[in-house]
Amino acid sequence: PTRQDSPLYPVLENAAAYYRQQLRQHAQRKRAVDYLKQRGLSGHIAKLYDIGFAPPGWNNLMGHLATNSSEEKLLIEAGLVVENPDSGKRYDRFRDRITFPIHDSRGRVIGFGGRVLGDDKPKYLNSPETPVFHKGRELYGLYEARLQNRQLEDILVVEGYMDVIALAQHGVTNAVATLGTATSEEHLKRLFRLVNSVVFCFDGDNAGRQAAWRALQSCLPVLEDGRHVRFMFLPEGHDPDSLIRQEGHDAFRARMHHQAQPLTEYLFRHLAEEAPPDSLEGKAHLATLALPLIEQVPGSLLRRLLRQSLQERTGMDLDDLRPGPTPTASTE
Ligand code: ATP
Ligand code: MN
Ligand code: MN
Ligand code: MN
Repeated sequence: PTRQDSPLYPVLENAAAYYRQQLRQHAQRKRAVDYLKQRGLSGHIAKLYDIGFAPPGWNNLMGHLATNSSEEKLLIEAGLVVENPDSGKRYDRFRDRITFPIHDSRGRVIGFGGRVLGDDKPKYLNSPETPVFHKGRELYGLYEARLQNRQLEDILVVEGYMDVIALAQHGVTNAVATLGTATSEEHLKRLFRLVNSVVFCFDGDNAGRQAAWRALQSCLPVLEDGRHVRFMFLPEGHDPDSLIRQEGHDAFRARMHHQAQPLTEYLFRHLAEEAPPDSLEGKAHLATLALPLIEQVPGSLLRRLLRQSLQERTGMDLDDLRPGPTPTASTE
């Protein structure tokens, strides 16, 4: 079968229905519901994001959805059941976890994220790569963001499921998350087909700051003139979930409007930390770091402005260095 009519879609849809039902009917549903309440989520938002509960136990889903071995094989292919390669034993992948269905742009379930209810490890589990689920391509919450907004003006990219959902709980309905992977050029192309403004808002920790710089690098090859990318840096120790719960919708919005830095500002600020242009050596170093980045920008006006800005920062005539041909849209 082609990707279009894969038999995995109904299997994944049935799994979502099962987890949804368990959140409402299972004997231990209260633990799950209390956890969601404690994280500040309302029933309305839980429904909107179709949050569910994978009960404790090794073969709940399997027992519910499979009556023979070929149906079990489909569950394995869908990433919902795991087969131990040595013993051949099969068991549910998601056990005693809150489940977050991941939808494609058409609203079909293509995978799940699952969070433990307490502090066990690993905190999150994701579906593995399957014929219908490719982490480097999908964005959690994009389908729901489009449902909640007739016209999206800009999109906020965050790290986690709970960030997307907590923001929506507080009325910020335009957030999406990469699925525990780096922001890829493919993610960005998808976003820029929908909006011309993207704001990154990663966690206020070292991992988040590193992810922001990597995201900047992925953005350069898709920076056509007219596209805007900004970066919001959160106070140390906060993520969008914790911050919006602490300060509320209005303060968070104000932060987004006043504190988000344009990509170009962030680029020069970051490079100047590594190569302070306070000596000739520093200026040469800065130019060495900045030029290969600037040359990746396909927008010819923005590229010229960036070169000009580098010129001002270094006092160099960059025409001597490298005129640089127009790069093609993709470097991969
Ligand atoms: P919490 O639910 O505690 O608020 P978080 O979303 O803030 O979690 P982070 O540790 O900041 O969690 O991680 C961000 C995202 O990275 C998660 O939402 C999840 O998608 C992914 N992630 C985190 N830990 C894991 C893991 N152990 N395995 C797979 N993905 C993970
Ligand atoms: Mn983090
Ligand atoms: Mn968090
Ligand atoms: Mn986090």
